[in-house]
Amino acid sequence: MRAERPELETPILMPTQKTKTDSARPRIRHLVVVLGDQLARDSSALEDFDPAQDAVWMAEVSDESTHVASAKQRTVLFLSAMRHFAQELRTDGIRVLYRAMSNDVAATPDSTLSGELTAVLHAHSVQRVRMVEPGEYRLLIALRSAVEDCNIPLDLLEDGHFLCSRAEFAAHAKGRKQLRMEYFYREMRRKHGVLMEGDGPNSNSAPVGGEWNYDAQNRRAFPASGPGFVPDTPRFAPDAITQEVMALVNTRFASNPGSVASFGWPVTRQQALEVLHSFIAQRLPDFGHWQDAMWAGQPWLYHAHISSALNLKLLNPREVINAAEAAHTDGNAALAAVEGFIRQVLGWREFVRGIYHLKMPEYGDMNALQADAELPDFYWSGDTDMRCLNDAITQTLEHGYAHHIQRLMVTGLYALLLGVQPRQIHAWYLGVYVDAVEWVELPNVLGMSQFADGGMMASKPYAATGKYIDRMSNYCAGCRYNPALRTGEKACPFTTLYWDFLDRHEKRLASNPRMALQVKNLARIAAPEMAQIRQQAAALRNPDTRVKA
Ligand code: FAD
Ligand code: SF4
Repeated sequence: MRAERPELETPILMPTQKTKTDSARPRIRHLVVVLGDQLARDSSALEDFDPAQDAVWMAEVSDESTHVASAKQRTVLFLSAMRHFAQELRTDGIRVLYRAMSNDVAATPDSTLSGELTAVLHAHSVQRVRMVEPGEYRLLIALRSAVEDCNIPLDLLEDGHFLCSRAEFAAHAKGRKQLRMEYFYREMRRKHGVLMEGDGPNSNSAPVGGEWNYDAQNRRAFPASGPGFVPDTPRFAPDAITQEVMALVNTRFASNPGSVASFGWPVTRQQALEVLHSFIAQRLPDFGHWQDAMWAGQPWLYHAHISSALNLKLLNPREVINAAEAAHTDGNAALAAVEGFIRQVLGWREFVRGIYHLKMPEYGDMNALQADAELPDFYWSGDTDMRCLNDAITQTLEHGYAHHIQRLMVTGLYALLLGVQPRQIHAWYLGVYVDAVEWVELPNVLGMSQFADGGMMASKPYAATGKYIDRMSNYCAGCRYNPALRTGEKACPFTTLYWDFLDRHEKRLASNPRMALQVKNLARIAAPEMAQIRQQAAALRNPDTRVKA
């Protein structure tokens, strides 16, 4: 049965639409631009909204699904969440000008956000445009110029969904030779009074429990019997709106990666809250122990699965942090688990955003290790004999999700060791994950996983042999390769490439105090074996010889 069309006030505005004379154009005092990752009712752009004079503008455009090959689930998530949000605004009496995309390319041709914004500004007499600053640099530039070109005043507002503003991060960074997440995180804990002894923010008192970091108690591997019973995360059957979007995506973006079949991500705030509450009650208590552990065929484990909801602004990071802290105060979760989780949201998430805005646009072009290999084709299919990569990529294409260690120490690590061009691996990550938006994806990929920024994000490359993967998962047990071998037919490609990586970058890495020991071990490898490693690594890097492995 065909899904019912969502009730959208949809004057579909083409960029080619003729400009009417000023007196004939409908008047709008404030046109509030809401982008697909700005779906927050408490948005600063909606403060002072007057339904009698103002309107919200939202647009679905093909360019956002094609400028990198956006996985089908990612596009479904954005479009469905946008349509649900528009419907909610309308229910509350807010006028929404919504440019919907349809299956019919002739009726809704391919377009860009800036093109559509220009069209709507020509079609209406708009006094001011109000917009929360876009998270992505590309859109900030494009949308700002579109408004400026129409000679309309623009209010660019601070994004209140972050605990650290751009200006605060710039102040934190000023005068520091190196930026390190740990110091930033402690500042944020103090400033926001999170897991601190004493009352309120800016307290000079000690961290709760006396330590800032409980990693030593966290990050275990599962026992040989595996994770056992893991409480489920709520998944949501597609409603009529989501079904219509799924049909649209399957037709219009048929050749984009992945499949929509398993779609169950939260597309409304209500659903996002359900996911959050289920995590806090059922999986947070075990989050710390298992946050780095992997297990074949188990994509979800003890993670929160809230990144897409956070990035679309269906959830506010403050409420996430408060809920986790309350679980500790109420005695429902140990401090180590709660601190480990809060570090991700208050620490890493805010830190990577700060780096992104501080360093763009140059950041996107960095390639400190001069990596020049092509991304292997199997990243788009999962078709490889390397069991760890097969599992991480297959689940990514199926669900648009892999957890942090799979991203960093499986798909990211292989690309780092192989020496894949940073822009290629960046486009892959930005396309395939449902939570991928550039301000968080780019520093994680270019900085943390590929060391392409030369050490702005991480103090050393996350380089390891297959033995790390063996320690943290059951992948190697069922793989045709052996993580302990670096040469020969059964050598694990990660292990071969690790030694080759150290060899290729020896000079640079030897001067990094955190890598010096690893680099020294190169000297223990006899010349004939090193020659063999180089030869095997070259074959892995060569698109003609690497085929599946
Ligand atoms: P959990 O493991 O349960 O963590 C809780 C929350 O902490 C996450 O929802 C997320 O909001 C935050 N968080 C954790 N680690 C990070 C981090 N390194 N940076 C920023 N926030 C963090 N996260 C994205 O949101 N979008 C991306 O496109 C993205 N790309 C990544 C690419 C690479 C190479 C790596 C190494 C990490 C990437 N991350 C990205 C960070 C992290 O892997 C995901 O946020 C996390 O896996 C999402 O799943 P979860 O909600 O179950 O997270
Ligand atoms: Fe991955 Fe190597 Fe282990 Fe195979 S042996 S699963 S390729 S780390």
